[in-house]
Amino acid sequence: MGEKRPQRLPKNPQPKEWLAKDHSLQYVADYKPFNFVDGEGVRCSVYVSGCLFNCPGCYNKAAQNFHYGQPYTQELEDQIMEDLSQSYVQGLTLLGGEPFLNTQVCLKLIHRLRKEFGHTKDIWSWSGYTWEELLKDSDDKLEMLHNIDILVDGRFLLAKKDLTLQFRGSSNQRIIDVPKSFASGKVVIWDKLVH
Ligand code: SF4
Repeated sequence: MGEKRPQRLPKNPQPKEWLAKDHSLQYVADYKPFNFVDGEGVRCSVYVSGCLFNCPGCYNKAAQNFHYGQPYTQELEDQIMEDLSQSYVQGLTLLGGEPFLNTQVCLKLIHRLRKEFGHTKDIWSWSGYTWEELLKDSDDKLEMLHNIDILVDGRFLLAKKDLTLQFRGSSNQRIIDVPKSFASGKVVIWDKLVH
């Protein structure tokens, strides 16, 4: 019997080591309007392209490439806003790829959503970064964090994979209520979490 090879782990960047301005090509891997799997309620989901964490077992490996998909366009943004205006749509979801390494695209969407819909629509984002890592990172990441409602945080870890979890793939990942976490100075988990 051979020795078991140690399992490869996702990468662990230093604070501010990876910056959207150095990596993002402002590409979008996919846009899925009116879905009900990427967070609470009916949602419009934007999958941005590019991620550096390289988690083994990544659910969307093709979108790790910053050049995957199509360039973000004004037409797409206008379409997303029109879709969000439907009364039955609860909000926007940003995922990827790594949204926090595509802040140019995500901040455009976030600011326009707030301008047009205020807080009548919510914003969820997934990230390979943890809450604690984002707090120590670049201004654009912090600006994005301050303007979303829910963060699903952390790398996907194969050793902690659990398909029964709500909205996440491994048990280290958390569904974080962002405004409540900033208000209380500690991580507050989404109060509708079931499992
Ligand atoms: S952080 Fe997410 S998108 Fe990036 S490699 Fe890991 S699972 Fe894939």
